[in-house]
Amino acid sequence: MKRALIHIDYTYDFVAPQGKLTCGDSGQAIEGQVLKITKQFVEQGDFVVFAIDRHEENDPYHPERHLFPAHNIVNTAGRDLYGQLEPYYQAIKTMANVYYLDKTRYSAFAGTDLEMKLREREIQELHLVGVCTDICVLHTAVDGYNKGFKLVIHKDAVASFNQEGHQWALGHFESALGATVI
Ligand code: ZN
Repeated sequence: MKRALIHIDYTYDFVAPQGKLTCGDSGQAIEGQVLKITKQFVEQGDFVVFAIDRHEENDPYHPERHLFPAHNIVNTAGRDLYGQLEPYYQAIKTMANVYYLDKTRYSAFAGTDLEMKLREREIQELHLVGVCTDICVLHTAVDGYNKGFKLVIHKDAVASFNQEGHQWALGHFESALGATVI
């Protein structure tokens, strides 16, 4: 079965201590595991997608504007990948199996060409890493499930600022989405 790694929002704003919408320690704690898994997929030639939030400053129409502080604003360092992921991404970004995807909603499928990229490569299994477990990872997983993809969630490589939400989502991936949580 062909597989892809979908990397969700592991950026400065979502992870760094001074990030605008940070997961804090729990986000920083998964850096090594996120890097290790990313390297495995890249080196094995699997399709690796960096699906990264992209927001405009003071967008009066965006539904998140009343829900969260502004984050991942275009052309700011808040959108850089966190820690060792950023230099690693810079080193691999021209590889044919690496794809950077701007997203503007929680799900990496919402308003993007992700599904076409996966279908044309005949990918059937999605591996998810990144943040936040119970928001963008969850919504991407739900869309993936509805589109018939098999899901694998790497529990040591997802995190949230909400520990209850994180735990709930890990259970939901298995019980409602039929995902493998490893
Ligand atoms: Zn956002």
